Amino acid sequence: MDILAKILKDENITLCPNDGSGSHPSTEHINKICGLDGHEGYAFCVKGRKYIYTGAQVTGWEMKYVIAHELGHILMGHLDPDFKECDRQTKESNADVFAAVFTALLLFHEYR
Ligand SMILES: [Zn+2]
Repeated sequence: MDILAKILKDENITLCPNDGSGSHPSTEHINKICGLDGHEGYAFCVKGRKYIYTGAQVTGWEMKYVIAHELGHILMGHLDPDFKECDRQTKESNADVFAAVFTALLLFHEYR
C-alpha cells in the first residue's frame, strides 16, 4: 500500500473518483460541500465523514496531485466551518504547496 492510500485509510477518507468505480453520496445526504477546486476535484464532509471527489478528466499522476491537494485541505482543517486562519486564496496556495511536496515524495519513493 502506498503512503497516499495509507493516509486515506488512516484518516478514514473515502475517494469518489468520477469513473463509475466510486460512490458519490447523493446530494440529499450532503450537509456541507466545499467545492474548493471546481471540476478537477474537491473535498467535502458528510455527517462527519470526509470525501475526496476527483473529476473524470484527471488520471495518473495528475489525479495523485489532485488527491494530494484535497488531502492537504482536509489535514490543514480547511473543511472545518470554524476555520478562519486565512482566506480562500491562501488556502489554495497552502494546499498547492502541500500537494507539490507530497507528490514529489511519492515520485521519490517510486523511482529511488
Ligand atoms: Zn484547493
